[in-house]
Amino acid sequence: LAAYAPDPVPAEPWISTGTPHLYTGVIEATGVVGPLVLPGGTACAGCIAGQRADRDPGWPRMLAQWRSGRGTGAVPACDLGLATAVAGLAAAHALSFLDGELPASTGARWEASLPLLDWRSERIAPHPECPCGAAGRREEEHMAGTGASHDTMAG
Ligand SMILES: [Zn+2]
Repeated sequence: LAAYAPDPVPAEPWISTGTPHLYTGVIEATGVVGPLVLPGGTACAGCIAGQRADRDPGWPRMLAQWRSGRGTGAVPACDLGLATAVAGLAAAHALSFLDGELPASTGARWEASLPLLDWRSERIAPHPECPCGAAGRREEEHMAGTGASHDTMAG
């Protein structure tokens, strides 16, 4: 869940310091890689939350219920092969970014579910009401503005 519906609050320091970060994880039978967030340039956790809330008015309440259910001892099943694949793919995306590329997870989420494991991607657009400001930028500007802080990678 942390990867699929990232909580904007822990990401706030990364957004405010301009630290790029990559969301990744395995939720039950679904592996998720992305989005890679370039603060102020591509959609962040807050943008994702905003998009979901726009599409589904019941989403914030459902999410709150899931989050409050954490820590009850129920650990979701996690497939070892899938987890390994996700970790490897996430590392590859991160290394590509550190090499100065913009991997396919930039502003997009890749996910694959067992048992078919067909990877599919979903573009994640910046949300106009998100304080990160990514929605105010045009594509060319953030493509050109990513050369700065390649030394840090969190998440
Ligand atoms: Zn945002």
